[in-house]
Amino acid sequence: MSEKSSYEAVIGLEIHAEMLTDSKMFCGCRVVDSVEAAPNSAVCPVCLGMPGMLPVINSRAIEYALRVALALNCEIQLHNIFARKSYFYPDLPKAFQISQYELPLARHGWLDVEGADGEVRRIRIRRVHMEEDTGKLTHLEGGGSLVDYNRSGVPLLEIVSEPDIRSGEEARIFTSKIRQILRYLGVNSGDMEKGVLRVEPNISIRPVGSEILGTRTELKNLNSFRALADGTDFEIKRQSAVLDAGELVIQETRGWHDTRRVTFSQRVKEEADDYRYFAEPDLPPLQLEKDWVDEIAAGLPELPDAKIARYRETLGLSAYDAGVLAGDRRVAEFYDTAVSAGGDPKTMANWMINDLFA
Ligand code: ADP
Ligand code: ZN
Ligand code: MG
Repeated sequence: MSEKSSYEAVIGLEIHAEMLTDSKMFCGCRVVDSVEAAPNSAVCPVCLGMPGMLPVINSRAIEYALRVALALNCEIQLHNIFARKSYFYPDLPKAFQISQYELPLARHGWLDVEGADGEVRRIRIRRVHMEEDTGKLTHLEGGGSLVDYNRSGVPLLEIVSEPDIRSGEEARIFTSKIRQILRYLGVNSGDMEKGVLRVEPNISIRPVGSEILGTRTELKNLNSFRALADGTDFEIKRQSAVLDAGELVIQETRGWHDTRRVTFSQRVKEEADDYRYFAEPDLPPLQLEKDWVDEIAAGLPELPDAKIARYRETLGLSAYDAGVLAGDRRVAEFYDTAVSAGGDPKTMANWMINDLFA
């Protein structure tokens, strides 16, 4: 942050997570690995946007989305509408994406994050909604582009936070906790390099003490946690310098250059109006049964924060040991099994962390 003026950073995240169901969101095509599968080997007339093809909702994708929304303490909306988001781009053969707009699956959630200083801050979640992923474009150096539609129609979850995050480091911690939860729930592998988990921070700054939001920029192409933290901090510094110079921040989408480690302008931000959202005419409203939602809630595993608290309070582990063991669900379950079989909690923790991991 600038030394001249005293600004506070304001950051809200949009996180996209592909849901690793067996089949796609609205057709029977397999969900395949975007790097290993042969291009365009998992496609059909529905996900290629052929005229007259009709989508069918994948109930497993709804179940996965509900797991995440419930784990993020959201209020679930039983009445759901899918919306058409219209835009033309070669990775989207239908020229619209099926998403959710006015009536998303879930709203008003939260997730607590603990900073390096040990202070716990609650980050509010604005909404969690379902949509479908687009295809993948590869731009060739000599000109021309290739498109792979395997990813087109893969169930996608969008998690949108309130602008409650205050630094690049906090954005990184929040996102890594989301990733951990997604992995616990078996919904997503968390592989940022493969693009199955993508995060876009919206960043603005304002004078310390002000309640008014400043003009934001949105950052894209972040394919690692380090890029997320560094890109966000770069934007905070850049915007501070812009304001210090007496200029105005422009609302735009910026890219992150991973080798030069700077952000650059990509395009002036589009507004919601440009997308001409309207209720998807090919799908009926999705009315969820409360009993089904309750059943999914009851079936959630013990989540990382609850495990850490239990390991510390009931089993007497250190914060560090509890965090290491709870970080991965399989490791935690191995530990839980050993302790319930009569293993001494501290001896088991030491053995696993020092000997087993090595
Ligand atoms: P969209 O980007 O699709 O227009 P929203 O306006 O709902 O969507 O905001 C997306 C994200 O940007 C949310 O995480 C929100 O908290 C955050 N956000 C909105 N306004 C600001 C701002 N002025 N500064 C920082 N983040 C913001
Ligand atoms: Zn298909
Ligand atoms: Mg946005």
